Amino acid sequence: MKRYDLIIIGAGPAGLSAAIEASKRGMSVAVFDENARPGGQLFKQIHKFFGSKKHKAKIRGYKIGEQLLQEASDNVDVKLNSPVIGIYPGKEVVVRQEDHIFHYKADSIIVATGASENMVPFEGWTLPGVIGAGAAQTMMNLHGVKPGEKILMLGSGNVGLVVSFQLLQAGCEVKALVDAAPRIGGYGVHAAKVARCGVPFYLSHTITKAEGTDCVTGAIISQVDEHFKPIPGTEEHFDVDTICVAVGLSPMSQLLMMAGCDMVDDPKRGGQVPVCGDYGETSIPGIYAAGDVSGIEEASSAMIEGRMAGICAAQYLDFCTEDEKKESLKTLLEDLDDLRQGMFAPKNRGKKIEKTEEGIDISQTLLTKGHLTREEAERFPGVIHEVGVHPVIECTQNIPCNPCQDACPKHCIQVGNDITALPQIDPDVQCIGCGMCVASCSGQAIFLLNEDYEPGFASVTLPYEFLPLPQKGSKGKALDRAGQPVCEAEVVNVRTAPAFDHTALLTIKVPKEKMMDARFYKGLGCTEGVEK
Ligand SMILES: Cc1cc2nc3c(=O)[nH]c(=O)nc-3n(C[C@H](O)[C@H](O)[C@H](O)COP(=O)(O)OP(=O)(O)OC[C@H]3O[C@@H](n4cnc5c(N)ncnc54)[C@H](O)[C@@H]3O)c2cc1C
Repeated sequence: MKRYDLIIIGAGPAGLSAAIEASKRGMSVAVFDENARPGGQLFKQIHKFFGSKKHKAKIRGYKIGEQLLQEASDNVDVKLNSPVIGIYPGKEVVVRQEDHIFHYKADSIIVATGASENMVPFEGWTLPGVIGAGAAQTMMNLHGVKPGEKILMLGSGNVGLVVSFQLLQAGCEVKALVDAAPRIGGYGVHAAKVARCGVPFYLSHTITKAEGTDCVTGAIISQVDEHFKPIPGTEEHFDVDTICVAVGLSPMSQLLMMAGCDMVDDPKRGGQVPVCGDYGETSIPGIYAAGDVSGIEEASSAMIEGRMAGICAAQYLDFCTEDEKKESLKTLLEDLDDLRQGMFAPKNRGKKIEKTEEGIDISQTLLTKGHLTREEAERFPGVIHEVGVHPVIECTQNIPCNPCQDACPKHCIQVGNDITALPQIDPDVQCIGCGMCVASCSGQAIFLLNEDYEPGFASVTLPYEFLPLPQKGSKGKALDRAGQPVCEAEVVNVRTAPAFDHTALLTIKVPKEKMMDARFYKGLGCTEGVEK
C-alpha cells in the first residue's frame, strides 16, 4: 500500500492551496480528484474576483486556477480521474482508478471535496433541459457548448446571477430570472450587470412547471404569497428550452462522515458539515476539512482555509514547529477575517449588516427603475461634478473588495482600511479619464462620465464584455439600468488593453440629460438585449 505524509481529497482551490503549503514544508503529498482536470470550480469562473490584491482580486477565476496549478506542480502528485470512495480507520484512503480499486495509507488527510448543487422539485423537473446552473457553466466555459438558446434562470444568488451573465456572454437569451424571495439573494452589482442587459427579474415568483414531453419546451412561473405558496391566477408562460436551477449548494461532506468525524447540521454553512476548529481540524486528530466542504463560502476563503489546513497538517507531523505554525496562521486568519466582513460570510448570512444601509437598495431601486431621481443619483460617489471627466461608482453594497482604489493612478478613489466600505471619490483630485477603475471593478459598477463631451452631449464610458465589440462610429440605443432603451447612442471610442484584462471600455455619446440613465449599449440590428 503506497504511503504519503498527506493525502488531500479534491484539487479545487482549497485542496491545491493546502498541497502548496504542505509540500513547501517537505511533506510527501498526493492530491486525488475525480475530475479529468484539476482546479475544482475555478476553471469555470471567467469573471473577475472580488477581494483585495492579496486575495487575488480582479483576477479571473480560471487564471487563479492556473497560478495555483503552477505553484503546486513541482512537488505535488496530483492524481486525476481518481474518485475517493472511502476513508477507513488508520487513515486508509480507497480510490477508484481506471476501474481498479487502490488503497493508500496517509499519516494525515485533508478533505477538500467542495459542494454539490441543490435541486428543487416541480412538475416536469426531470425533463432533459432542466439543469443546474453550475452544469450550464461547465458546458459553456469548459467545453464551449451552449446549454440552450432560451433560458429561464431560477435563483438570484451569486451563482444564478453570475451564470445568467455568462449565458448572455455565450449568446444565449435569458428570458427571465426568477426567485421566490422578495429580494435579490446575491451581490447587487452582479444583479445590476444582468438587469441592464434587459433580463427581467421576477422576485416573489417560483417555477411551477417545466413544459414538454421529451425535453423542455417552456416553463410556467407563478407569483408566491408570504408563505412561498404559488398564487392561483398569476401563472405566466415562457418560451424556453432550458431551465437553469441555482438554488444553493450543499457541502459534500460524506467522506468526513464516513471517517467518523463529528458532524453538525448548520444551515448557515449549507447543511451537514464537520465540527471544526479555527483551522479546519476535525474531531479526529490528523484529519482536516477545508473549503466549501466545511461551509459554503467562496473561492478566496477556500484558498485561505486550504493553506491553514496544510500548515496544520505539517505541524501535526512535525514538518514545522508550533511557533512557525502560529506565525503563519496569524496572517492567514487576519486575511480570512477581512473576507468575512461581507454579507455572505456564514456569520452574517440572513442578518442585515448595518453598513449595507449606506448603500442603495438594489432590488428596490436599480432593478425596478432604470431612471434615478437626482436625489437617488447623488448617493453614488462622484456623480455631480458638472464639468469634465469623472467616475460614477454604482457600488451599492459592502462587498469585501477594493481594486478600484489601487487602480486609480491619481488616487482619486478611496475605500480605506475597512475593505467592505463603499468607495468614495476625492473631489479635489482631477480624474484623467484613463478608465483603469472601470476595467478593474470586478462588479462592473464604475462608469466614466464626460459632462463636456460636446455642446448638449455627454459621453459615458462603460465596461463591456461581449463579442463582437461594436465598432467606433456605430449607432444604437443606450439602455438604462433596467435594460430599457433611453436614447440614441453613438460609439465614439472602443478601448482594449492588456491591463484591462478582456474588459473593453466602450464610450458612447448621449444627450447630456440622459448621462445618468445610459448604462449599457445595444447596437442597431440586434434583436436581443446584448450584442452577439
Ligand atoms: C457557479 C459558481 C460561481 C461561483 N462564483 C464565485 C465567485 O465569483 N467568487 C468566488 O470566490 N467563489 C465563487 N464560487 C464559489 C467557489 O467556486 C467555491 O467556493 C470554491 O470553488 C470552493 O473551493 P473548494 O476547493 O472547496 O471546492 P471545489 O472548487 O468545488 O473543488 C472540490 C474538488 O473536489 C473534487 N472531489 C469531490 N469529491 C471527490 C471525491 N470523492 N474524490 C475525488 N475528488 C473529489 C471535485 O472534483 C473538485 O475538483 C462560485 C461557485 C459556483 C458553483
